[in-house]
Amino acid sequence: MDAEAFRVQAHQVVDWIADYLASVGDRAVFPDIEPGWLRSRLPAHPPAEPESMDAVLTDFRELVVPAITHWNHPSFHAYFANSASGPGILGEMLAAALNANAMVWRASPAGTELEEVAVDWLREIVGLPPVFAGVINDTASTSTLVALAAAREAGALGDRPGRIYASVEAHSSVQKAGMVLGLGRDGVQAIPTDAEWRMQPQALADHVRADREAGVLPLAVVATLGTTSTTSVDPVAEIAEIAAAEQMWLHVDAAYAGPAAVLPELARHFVGWERADSIVVNPHKWLFTPMDCSVLFFRDPDRIRAAFSLTPEYLKTPEEGQGTNLMDYGVALGRRFRALKLWMVIRAFGVSGIEARIREHCRLARLFASWVADAPGWEVSAPVPFASVLFRWTGRGEDAASIDAANHAVLEGLNRSGTAFLSHTVLEGRTVLKLSVGNLRTTEADLARTWTALRDHAARP
Ligand SMILES: *Cc1c(COP(=O)(O)O)cnc(C)c1O
Repeated sequence: MDAEAFRVQAHQVVDWIADYLASVGDRAVFPDIEPGWLRSRLPAHPPAEPESMDAVLTDFRELVVPAITHWNHPSFHAYFANSASGPGILGEMLAAALNANAMVWRASPAGTELEEVAVDWLREIVGLPPVFAGVINDTASTSTLVALAAAREAGALGDRPGRIYASVEAHSSVQKAGMVLGLGRDGVQAIPTDAEWRMQPQALADHVRADREAGVLPLAVVATLGTTSTTSVDPVAEIAEIAAAEQMWLHVDAAYAGPAAVLPELARHFVGWERADSIVVNPHKWLFTPMDCSVLFFRDPDRIRAAFSLTPEYLKTPEEGQGTNLMDYGVALGRRFRALKLWMVIRAFGVSGIEARIREHCRLARLFASWVADAPGWEVSAPVPFASVLFRWTGRGEDAASIDAANHAVLEGLNRSGTAFLSHTVLEGRTVLKLSVGNLRTTEADLARTWTALRDHAARP
């Protein structure tokens, strides 16, 4: 593809993107297709001869897009809703064009230094002290794995079994990190939660003491600020006390809720997180940055490097000890230029713009919760500290299993209709629905439509 052909195609692609973003709300959020739909429509074998970009883009529009669940749709409320902002998309486009690989400083000086700048800006935005440095990873799962690998290295396990603690509500990535780190099936101990799904610090202290007596080395504790099921907030200040007393690494998982620390009215949820050894915050979740972008903050870069630094001859450079070599902070050698989109998002929104959007999302979530709370036959199932609402239809006096089935039916009916897309979780054995507000395009009117649709589906026999 020469420069002129690229220019023509790129203009068409940009026009398509602009139209798509302007009209994504008119599409079905979920395409209502069955698994295998797309594969059955695409050739099983690669083309032997080159194909025209026109033909490829036609298939993109006619086959790929119809099989997309639209995370950019204003009525996407499943999991943790998010959205790709214009500035973030532009950053992603430019990063692809530069194709920079920031493994060592000289491989991409801008890729390296812009990452340091963007991470430092995010640190300031969420109110963490300057002692924290950080890197950008693909996902929180990777960030948590890196942090816990550093914790294991710092723990100097030797032959002893080591253990990591996290609440029963912690994200599955913590357990997965324990598996990858070879800590065994019991490597991650689940700590019970209180009536509002927050880790019980006393239970943590008890487990740690019992483990020490049994010859198990407590390596790390993960406190979650904004758990995946209920967005509950672990008492991180108390957990930090225990971590300090027991010389355990404290990792804070704020993958979802971290950006909300920008709001003074929510700062109380984050008191004590500045005592962590590492913290993960995902700009691709609630900071308008396209997939993927996860920031891992850490207090002591040496401890991360101790777990990951290894420099073969072919990667030695004259800048040793001057420029940062990002390859020293994780598993991957090659690194995408993710900082560009984050830097562009932060500049284009400004801190005030970020605050305003997150505040509005929290307002919309509280508003939705108030509609649910006021409606007969519905209940809000958990507190709403951020912008996700857990709720359920309580039915017409049927037994628990029928009510659970009815909630699944409401969810599936709504999702299949394409009007809105929600997800579910299980709390204390009962099915509950989850509506997360995190999309830049979601308005109060969109939310009201979704609420009407939910009640319509619940009213069906
Ligand atoms: C989403 C989420 C994760 C996992 O995030 P990925 O970036 O998809 O790996 C981890 N922890 C919490 C609390 C989350 O909400």
